[in-house]
Amino acid sequence: MESSKYEAVIGLEVHAQLQTTTKLFCGDSIAFGAEPNTHVSPITLGHPGTLPKTNTKAIDFAVMLGLACNCEIVSKNYFARKNYFYPDLPKGYQISQHTTPICKGGIVPIKIDGIEKNIQLNRIHIEEDAGKSIHDLYETETCIDLNRAGTPLLEIVTEPCLHTSEEAFQYVTEIRKLVRWIGVCDGNMEEGSLRCDANVSIRLKGETKLGTKVEVKNVNSIRNVKRAIDAEIKRMIELVENGGTVVQQTRSYDVNTDTTSGIRDKEDANDYRYFADPDLTPFNLTQEYIGKIKTALPVLPNALTLKYKQDFGLSEYDASVICDDKSIADYFNETIANTNNYKAVANFILGPIKQYLNENSLAINETSLTPTALANLIKLVDGNKVNFSVASSKILPVLFAENKDALQVAEELNLLQTNDSNEIEDWVNAVIENMPDKVAEYKKGKKGLIGLFVGEVKKISKGKADPKVVTELLTQKLNS
Ligand code: ADP
Ligand code: MG
Repeated sequence: MESSKYEAVIGLEVHAQLQTTTKLFCGDSIAFGAEPNTHVSPITLGHPGTLPKTNTKAIDFAVMLGLACNCEIVSKNYFARKNYFYPDLPKGYQISQHTTPICKGGIVPIKIDGIEKNIQLNRIHIEEDAGKSIHDLYETETCIDLNRAGTPLLEIVTEPCLHTSEEAFQYVTEIRKLVRWIGVCDGNMEEGSLRCDANVSIRLKGETKLGTKVEVKNVNSIRNVKRAIDAEIKRMIELVENGGTVVQQTRSYDVNTDTTSGIRDKEDANDYRYFADPDLTPFNLTQEYIGKIKTALPVLPNALTLKYKQDFGLSEYDASVICDDKSIADYFNETIANTNNYKAVANFILGPIKQYLNENSLAINETSLTPTALANLIKLVDGNKVNFSVASSKILPVLFAENKDALQVAEELNLLQTNDSNEIEDWVNAVIENMPDKVAEYKKGKKGLIGLFVGEVKKISKGKADPKVVTELLTQKLNS
């Protein structure tokens, strides 16, 4: 297949369900997993005579995300009705924004193999979600659950400026990190609170005109966004190479066959007969309001990564892994309030602590290990009271389970390192006696064996011998 002639063009539409407690225009709960059709007031059901009222929290969230993505925040806004019929849309229209998306433009930086690229946003707008049609519960019937109808969403739309599935993967990863970081959406793709539609087209390399696009839907994980795009690019190239033409369509991705299939030909945008919703007053955002939201935004992950590198000397890798998750970054911040050994804090968090959290499916604030306890443990290591391996394998497990002080645990378990040279001398002598062959080799010049002897003393002292004193004593004795 002649695939090197072609270039893919991708634009992504991400829907993020907002973490408000109630719907966009009424007081129904948006909690996931409720009995079907229990969060359905007359407003959600679109009964005649009902009036919607805007949930201002959703507007706050939209502005927060817009500011986080460097968008222009539009001050004069209104909601528009997007008219279409579908069984899961009881009003017969979806309330959305049309000519005035609340956020315009903006960028989301991504990194691929260390190279940064800015993904250009077209807009972010607020809209309500539809209900859910459930086709797979009964063989011949479709069920409707309207709990989701009216849930607030942000639609984040990129320009057609991505060219590989890897860029799409990184972009969605970045968006998920960002919405979680600022707390506007839980980012859970499996439960559908973050959804991604991928618009894909191909063109000959060097061509500047866009090709006909296909919109791929039903992608429920970031990995599948990547796979769906790859599958669609492959299909398009094969089609065109065999003399066919791409038609504008909505397609669905099937994980099992790793292929896409057509759902419907794309309807034209003006079929929707948009008009300003007469039941909702236009809303204006003042500079003062926008400024307040801006001040309240947390430091964003990219800025924090940079700070950790510049101010604390962390590596790019350590800094960016800590900043992948706000709860981890917050924990790091609280720990370094009590110790200046930033590198040690990173090592503990990214090593034994992350391992423990993964194995037990816990978040960092779900164990008994407080940032203060961790800082005190690091102080014990720094003060040569225990070594790192004793600290992480013996003391940490206790601290995960109980809110105790590291020193107390070390004392109780008799783990404190000793620099009492008499005690250490006994261990050193024992090792020298037990390894006459190695001692002879050492004396003949194989000085590298010192590491082996130190290791042996560490073993028989159960980590309690201060390695510095051990090395000094060993060198003295072996060289005499
Ligand atoms: P629609 O009206 O069909 O929703 P939009 O112009 O709003 O189309 O674009 C929707 C998404 O599709 C955007 O993310 C945009 O970048 C992307 N897109 C538009 N044209 C193309 C194209 N030819 N190839 C790939 N993506 C495209
Ligand atoms: Mg669209």
